[in-house]
Order: sequence, then structure tokens, then C-alpha cells
Amino acid sequence: MMSNLAFPGQQVGDLTITAISDGSLNASLDFLSNIDPADASRMQEDAGVKDYTSIHINCYLVRGGGRTILIDAGAGGFKQWGGQLKTNLVLAGIRPSEIDTILLTHAHPDHVGGLMDSSGEAVFPNAELVVHHREVSFWQDDGNLSRAPEHARGNFLVARRAFDGYRDRLRTFDAGEVLPGMTAVPLPGHTEGHTGYRLESGGQNLLVWGDIVHFPQIQIPRPDVAIAFDQDSDLAVATRSRLLDLVSSEQLLIAGMHLSELGFAHIKRTGGNYGVTYEG
Ligand SMILES: [Zn+2]
Repeated sequence: MMSNLAFPGQQVGDLTITAISDGSLNASLDFLSNIDPADASRMQEDAGVKDYTSIHINCYLVRGGGRTILIDAGAGGFKQWGGQLKTNLVLAGIRPSEIDTILLTHAHPDHVGGLMDSSGEAVFPNAELVVHHREVSFWQDDGNLSRAPEHARGNFLVARRAFDGYRDRLRTFDAGEVLPGMTAVPLPGHTEGHTGYRLESGGQNLLVWGDIVHFPQIQIPRPDVAIAFDQDSDLAVATRSRLLDLVSSEQLLIAGMHLSELGFAHIKRTGGNYGVTYEG
């Protein structure tokens, strides 16, 4: 079934990459550090953002080379966040059973909540789940769970439920190529195993950068602004600064889970400042 509905998409060599929305979540600007919330609000207003606290959730469908790959799986309705991935995949012409591989950028609930349904069944019955080994070990560690603040314990349960639901088809990696033409890019800080994926085909490139930003109109111009969801905010800031330098120098096409519903962008540096230009 092909759909006439337009989802944001890009062609990278033989690969077709489509941004599939899971919906959104809301997070207070008070979660940001290194910035006054009033200044953060002003930046959202100046950028024309309508709902200042809304964070869009994207997943990415990658088709080509005989594969049907999903990168991240959205929130699945956890805390009323997102939950639209499955419906939108079907609208894009893909049944969950057709997904052969799921690459995870990390295992926060807005990325793995959509892996399991409410009855405890795996949503993607034929998919191998591919994730950095450090991400699995972090969430499986009982010491980390017991040290976590009360409000963060649910994150462990969601991650564990997902890993458990796919345990007979879970593949972990340390570095390098995870699928033909798809290379893991370590982006630690947001979580221990937070990973981007560089897709290369026919001399063209795309970087899926995961959660390098949550509020793009704030954190791209101000890479020093961290968010409370970061496990190590200093490292997250350093990783974001390093990556913005790289993708602007290389003029690399990027995709991001919280980059807005437009899904794809380039980062440009003018003088000392970074800005985002959406594609499509
Ligand atoms: Zn996220």
C-alpha cells in the first residue's frame, strides 16, 4: 500500500529516509540549565515557536538495500507522550511486521516506549533490536536503579521491559558499522550509550543525531544550555558543541528525534553563531 500523505523525506544514495512522527511531549523550560527561563521563552518567541514547551518526537524509517529499518520507536503513549508512531507508519505504507531492524539512539522512554504494546507484546514481531552495549548495561544495573531519584525509576522499568521483550533478538555493539553503510557515532552525555547513526550511500551522507537537542531553537544557538534529562550535562554540552562544529563544517544533512516535525536540517555557522535551516 502506498500512501499519498506527505511525510518529510530525504534520499541519500539508494536509501530513502522518512521522518515518522510519534507526536509530542511537553517539558517545562525550567528543566533547562545555564539559561534564565524568561530568556529561553524569548528565544522560542523570536523563532516563531507557538507552544514553547512542546518537544516533537520523530522516528526515522530507512528503506533500501532490501531492508526496512526503524530508528527509535517513540514514547508509545508513556505519560501521555506521543503514541502515534504505529498509525503513522501504516499511513506511510509500512506494517510493523515489515520492520526488520530497529536501531536505538538510547533507551529513554520517549524512544523505547513504542516497542511494547499495552498488553506486553512486542509491537515489531520480526525486528532485531540494535543498541549500544553501554545503554543496555546502564539500564539493567540494579545499583543505577537504586541510586536513581524516585521520579526517574519508571524510566528503568520502561527500558527493561523493552530489552526483555526483544531479548532473543537483541544485538549490542561497541563501535563501527552496525549495518551495511550505517556507522555508529558515539555521542555520550545525554545517556551513557547515546549514539548517532551515520548513513552513507552513493557518496551521500546523513547523520541521525538522536537527542543532541530537545529545544532546537534554544540549544543550537546556545549549545551550552543543558536539560535535566541529560545524565551528564557537562559531557552532553561538550558533545553538542563538538558535533555542531563538525556538522556545520561538513555541511552534513542531519535528522534528529526532537528536531521538529520537519525532520531534516542543515546547521550553518555565521560568525560565532550556529543556526538551523530546515530542509524539505
Ligand atoms: Zn528524547
